[in-house]
Amino acid sequence: MPPIENDAGKNELKSRIQQLIDTNRVVVFSKSYCPYCLEVKDLFKELKVECNVVELDLIEDGSNYQEMLLEMTGQKTVPNVFINKTHVGGCDRTMQAHNDGSLQQLLNGGNEVYDYDLIVIGGGSGGLACSKEAALLGKKVMVLDYVVPTPKGTTWGLGGTCVNVGCIPKKLMHQTAMLSTAMQDARKFGWEFDEKVKHNWDTMKTAVNNYIGSLNWGYRVALRDKNVNYVNAYAEFIEPHKIKAANKRGKETFYTAAKFILATGERPRYLGIPGDKEHCITSDDLFSLPYCPGKTLVVGASYVALECGGFLAGLGLDVTIMVRSILLRGFDQDMANRAGKHMEEHGIKFIRKYVPIKVEELEAGSPGRLKVTAKSTETDDIIEGEYNTVLIAVGRDACTDKLGLDKAGIIVNPKNGKIPVNDEEQTNIPHIYAIGDILQDKWELTPVAIQAGKLLARRLYGGSTLKCDYINVPTTVFTPMEYGSCGLSEERATELYGQENLEVYHSLFWPLEFTVPGRDNNTCYAKIICNKLDNDRVIGFHYLGPNAGEVTQGFGAAMKCRVTKEQLDGTIGIHPTCAEIFTTLEVTKSSGGDVTQAGC
Ligand code: FAD
Ligand code: NAP
Repeated sequence: MPPIENDAGKNELKSRIQQLIDTNRVVVFSKSYCPYCLEVKDLFKELKVECNVVELDLIEDGSNYQEMLLEMTGQKTVPNVFINKTHVGGCDRTMQAHNDGSLQQLLNGGNEVYDYDLIVIGGGSGGLACSKEAALLGKKVMVLDYVVPTPKGTTWGLGGTCVNVGCIPKKLMHQTAMLSTAMQDARKFGWEFDEKVKHNWDTMKTAVNNYIGSLNWGYRVALRDKNVNYVNAYAEFIEPHKIKAANKRGKETFYTAAKFILATGERPRYLGIPGDKEHCITSDDLFSLPYCPGKTLVVGASYVALECGGFLAGLGLDVTIMVRSILLRGFDQDMANRAGKHMEEHGIKFIRKYVPIKVEELEAGSPGRLKVTAKSTETDDIIEGEYNTVLIAVGRDACTDKLGLDKAGIIVNPKNGKIPVNDEEQTNIPHIYAIGDILQDKWELTPVAIQAGKLLARRLYGGSTLKCDYINVPTTVFTPMEYGSCGLSEERATELYGQENLEVYHSLFWPLEFTVPGRDNNTCYAKIICNKLDNDRVIGFHYLGPNAGEVTQGFGAAMKCRVTKEQLDGTIGIHPTCAEIFTTLEVTKSSGGDVTQAGC
């Protein structure tokens, strides 16, 4: 039978398959000669469970079934097992479900009475999005959220990392720092005000935290309005379908659900050196710190370190960043170094190729005085420095170790605690899913967690088949000169396609707003990487300049639509803006041409 080409034919086949799934307790799509299929069929025979077996090699349009199953489940191989309308997977998954007891639960699905249709563990970006969507689709949903205090005792409300100790306070404090630059520029534009301008940490901290408080409240109201049962308790599996929830007074309550979604996020990692937990802070403490941190050492060189170091320096503090190896690992290094150079030129000190080995308190206080001893990563050199605050920003650990995942049989990557899932965010246990920062090899970004959560709920309860697209995710690092990117770094593109198959267009530029104050001439930079083998399609977008998030968002949409260089050239720019540079890029890197920009 030839492949079905037309939509009507495909739709007809899809509804035929869906009907099979909907009207049979167990359906096994199989091939008569396949030993794995035989294993699964034998299992059901042994369990005395009647199943509807469709032998794809014995029916006329078996290959079309297989293509459609791929579209519906992301799985083309056989056996492909469904129980009570739930996609279980292949032989391994079915056997695993049998071993951990979840197969029996699924088989009893119609009769088993659970407290909830869905329990979501973690009320952060992903968990809230997912629980609200599932409730909107008519399901009985519970979400549990609990914040374990930091070693300094800092804690916060509902909403997870982004709202309380991530994107929101970070961007507001970045904005505070940007206002300092704006004030300096303002004088050049004719504004006159007293020479002495100073910043009050407490005013900023209180204003930012008041806003966060309003968001925490808004989330609680939204959950209540949508009939999601919110419980402020720490959840832990005790069986595949049952959790224990412990509240802050230690009271334990037990809940069961047909399905679970894990969305427990990550927490900052410590260095594991003497004095780190006693004397240092992390981003979890910084945004609500009750005093101005003073002279600060930031340890780490990725998003969190550079952003926090950047805004602290922008507030006028003496900031040093200790870099173990390179800036912004994984990002385009040409761009990362340009962002770093700009920070260096604006007074931020970098200690490169050193790691702290000890932190001692010289004097208690708010802030106190700390002595940091650090060791070179290349030689035996040891250096010492004195700071008021040490901010550790060396990465984040997935909150999966105390979740009782072994009780549910969930496979975790033992190296980093991350959870592997298939392209439908399903773990190895069919009724348990995971989203957000705890996922292995996925972006750790708020909009990614939200999108994955929403789409997952729609697939589970709304009949949708749309999956989260983790490719070409736009992102921005809010360094003092912001860096936005989408798609591949130059290094990765070269690795994948070979330098000879790429054309890199680039230009320095000078935003009009910087000209009158006369600052940062030819510091901003635009670069696109095009694939010559594919019609000069843009596979990497990089922008270092003001409002990088706003600029990159739009080009992110263009890249989702597979924009080419020719289409960018055919786009009329908006003048005078920074983003228009992408409509007029002419100089290729390979030509070695001059990329400084003279005027408009
Ligand atoms: P989270 O939002 O972390 O939520 C998980 C929740 O689960 C937490 O409230 C946690 O306390 C709770 N929890 C954990 N275990 C349990 C349990 N057993 N029981 C009950 N509750 C539990 N992303 C961006 O897109 N843009 C940015 O500008 C940005 N800036 C950031 C700045 C900083 C300083 C940091 C640290 C992160 C930033 N991020 C940013 C990343 C973003 O915050 C995360 O990607 C996002 O919050 C992940 O959402 P999540 O739902 O996976 O987890
Ligand atoms: P990260 O990206 O994992 O980077 C960790 C940094 O710490 C690296 O520079 C690493 O250096 C360094 N490091 C690790 N161990 C160290 C040690 N023992 N001593 C010294 N340095 C050490 O972590 P992150 O900055 O915490 O960011 C976590 C995630 O949050 C990011 O992936 C991002 O998705 C998200 N986030 C997003 C935004 C945003 O969207 N603007 C902002 C903040 C965070 P090496 O390179 O040498 O390993």
